Amino acid sequence: MGKVLIIGAGGVATVAAVKVAKNSDVFSEIMIASRTKSKCDAIAKYIADKGIRSDIKTAQVDANDVEQLVALFNDYKPELVMNLALPYQDLTIMEACLQAGCNYLDTANYEPEFPSAEAYKDAVLPHHDDQPHFEYSWQWAYRERFEKAGLCAILGCGFDPGVTSIYTAYAAKHHFDEMHYLDIVDCNAGNHHKAFATNFNPEINLREITQEGLYWENGEYIVTEPMAIHKTLNYPNVGPKESYLLHHEEIESLVINYPTLKRARFWMTFGQQYLTYLDCIQNLGMGRIDEIEYKAPKADGTGDEVVKIVPLQFLKAVLPNPQDLGENYDGETSIGCRIRGIKNGEEHTYYVYNNCSHQAAYEETGMQGVSYTTGVPACIGARMFMLGLWNKPGVHNVEEFDPDPFMEELNKQGLPWHELHDIDLELD
Ligand code: NDP
Repeated sequence: MGKVLIIGAGGVATVAAVKVAKNSDVFSEIMIASRTKSKCDAIAKYIADKGIRSDIKTAQVDANDVEQLVALFNDYKPELVMNLALPYQDLTIMEACLQAGCNYLDTANYEPEFPSAEAYKDAVLPHHDDQPHFEYSWQWAYRERFEKAGLCAILGCGFDPGVTSIYTAYAAKHHFDEMHYLDIVDCNAGNHHKAFATNFNPEINLREITQEGLYWENGEYIVTEPMAIHKTLNYPNVGPKESYLLHHEEIESLVINYPTLKRARFWMTFGQQYLTYLDCIQNLGMGRIDEIEYKAPKADGTGDEVVKIVPLQFLKAVLPNPQDLGENYDGETSIGCRIRGIKNGEEHTYYVYNNCSHQAAYEETGMQGVSYTTGVPACIGARMFMLGLWNKPGVHNVEEFDPDPFMEELNKQGLPWHELHDIDLELD
């Protein structure tokens, strides 16, 4: 029986909290802590009102502040800290876990909030110093300290990264002697009936998709202009959707953990309207992530003052909140791995995927499918940890653990998967 602390109170944290609360055979005590305590209280109330559990504790914490985190961890003494705040907080939360002797799990890899040559001095992936950029090297640098402390850090336990990495591990274990070509395909065929909205934190989402594309081929990364490579792919129960090659973080660990891969790519679907809005946002300068000075009226009405704002953070404040999209969201997501490789000397193809209905996700957790497909795997990863099935000292990406018990849980916890063998993968 385990004691868990969830950090963050957004869409993903809400789903994870509902699911963790439903897994009370494994989680004996639950606390939700975030920047805004009232949001934690609202999640605890939602779970209590649904009759799931009424003993969830809440707390306020600034996860950028290691001292505050350590004080909270020492006071509550969780076995596992689930970091479902933002990628900017990964390192402070990992540091606090080390200082307080807690294990760690997250769903997104670290990126510096403000890009600069200094912020990227230890970076290993190809990038420009003025472009936002995420990679695992910063978190992998904690390996030795976690190992020595006998603590486990589980990185990237959402859907992508997360389930896609576990699908790949499952394929390697059961269906291939050698995997050669991996394409991760992420389709959101849902409709939230808003002109423009992002499905998770707008700042993180827009930073991710406006980056240069990156994929792995013949032992090196190939850099592309943002959204430069695209192709129509057919998704099960959805049909054809234009899919764009993006840099996505699981590629970075998968090509290391599966060195037989000759090529690894990530594709995501976008509708034309979404891309038109994105183009406008960038052309208007609203996607900028540097600070600009802005003359704003003082809150007390006594005149103006010059303040610094980050245009993308301001845009986040006026865009629809991803947590409020669920009620009118229809359609489904379809995310999976298309893999080509060798088994018993013969070439085979394999497609493993999940389709998730936005409405079903909303009915169960009050959140839409993108939060659901991230929060459920985070809960399953925490369950794996608490059961001792995924627990080894060090810092590990999810494909480094046994995929079988996790795959079994996906079917039980709302994200069933399907397999297709020896089909045309549409990706040469
Ligand atoms: P939200 O913006 O909805 O939630 C983020 C939460 O973190 C908010 O409650 C916010 O507080 C809190 N937070 C932010 N800064 C701090 C801080 N300094 N201290 C304490 N709390 C803080 O994001 P989502 O729920 O949509 O996403 C959560 C995470 O999941 C992100 O890292 C995202 O990248 C990742 N993700 C991963 C996916 C995957 O498949 N692997 C897919 C989708 C998302 P406040 O409420 O006060 O703003």
